[in-house]
Amino acid sequence: MAHMASTAPSPVSPEPTATVHAGADGGSASRPRMLSGMQPTADSLHLGNYLGALANWVHLQDTFEAYYFIADQHAITVRHDPALLRRRTRATAAQFLAAGIDPNKSVVFVQSHVPEHSQLSWALQCLTGYGEAGRMTQFKDKAAREGTEKASVGLFTYPVLQAADILLYDAAKVPVGEDQRQHLELTRNLAQRFNKRFGPGLVVPEPHILKATGKILDLQQPDKQMSKSRGGAGCLFLLDDPKISLKKIRSAVTDTGREVIHDPERKPGVSNLLTILSTLSGTGLEDLQATFVGAGYGDLKKETARAFTDFVEPFQTSVHELLCDTGTLDDVLAEGAAAARKQAAARLEVVYELLGFLPGRP
Ligand code: ATP
Ligand code: MG
Repeated sequence: MAHMASTAPSPVSPEPTATVHAGADGGSASRPRMLSGMQPTADSLHLGNYLGALANWVHLQDTFEAYYFIADQHAITVRHDPALLRRRTRATAAQFLAAGIDPNKSVVFVQSHVPEHSQLSWALQCLTGYGEAGRMTQFKDKAAREGTEKASVGLFTYPVLQAADILLYDAAKVPVGEDQRQHLELTRNLAQRFNKRFGPGLVVPEPHILKATGKILDLQQPDKQMSKSRGGAGCLFLLDDPKISLKKIRSAVTDTGREVIHDPERKPGVSNLLTILSTLSGTGLEDLQATFVGAGYGDLKKETARAFTDFVEPFQTSVHELLCDTGTLDDVLAEGAAAARKQAAARLEVVYELLGFLPGRP
């Protein structure tokens, strides 16, 4: 998906001023709250999900009170198979844990286990302009694949559900890939609009985008980002047989010229491989380029393949162990849902009150 497009002023209301601060009744003063999620739209996450999001989540759980969720409601915005969805939801949870998300430090849960997401989403949809939703480039991209006529209303309103996901938890920071920047801007606009109209009820979150790995590109089409739903020969799935991935790395599209240098404008394919190798190996781009002076694209691919294998083999072993014991995995998710609901219900109550909904009898 393209970089963030500028968000035009909303047709629904002028831009707002009132804000609620994170930590007011959300994240503790010492650890601000943070939230992020992934869709269970494939049997496996891909390297972009890992480097652009998951690996950062692991670090962030020490400094933040973190909420990490599996966005199964987002996964039904396009046609899906129920049995596959069930399997993929567990597989995604297992990959979170195998990557190092610790349920004793972070709240790990499944979106559909917390009904407040849909409830807040409805309230926010009523604050979102039709044109404003129509400008979301991810909708345009996904709808273009099947044709806009066939795209579901759920796909259209998906960014508003995403806004609800974030705003329920008073998240101060949302770590996302570059592709989600526009959605986060919508979330901020909706929170500000709500606060201006009804009084301070929602925390306005900040994006937390790591530039170096913000966007891992498709190995075959380095003008597009690696994506689960597109998959294909340019996508490195973490749970594929490593032999398949190594072949994909060997066949990665490179660029004209011979030099192994990081120049995303002129050499998007080579720069992408360098970014991958740099992040997987923990070697800075400058140092890495120095090791390739006089070497060629074949050497770069070989080193990238080696680093990928070193990472993915132990990762796969832990995922398989976790999936062998679904009872324990489901217990982790149930505990996560209980903790998430506590916070989500409290925030929704404030929102309903400000909206003027009568309190229901307990
Ligand atoms: P889909 O194609 O179904 O949208 P996806 O591969 O884009 O799947 P998501 O579940 O939409 O994955 O995103 C999960 C997280 O991974 C988000 O934080 C997103 O920003 C990040 N992410 C997805 N693709 C990439 C990528 N190629 N590079 C970096 N981060 C990515
Ligand atoms: Mg996506």
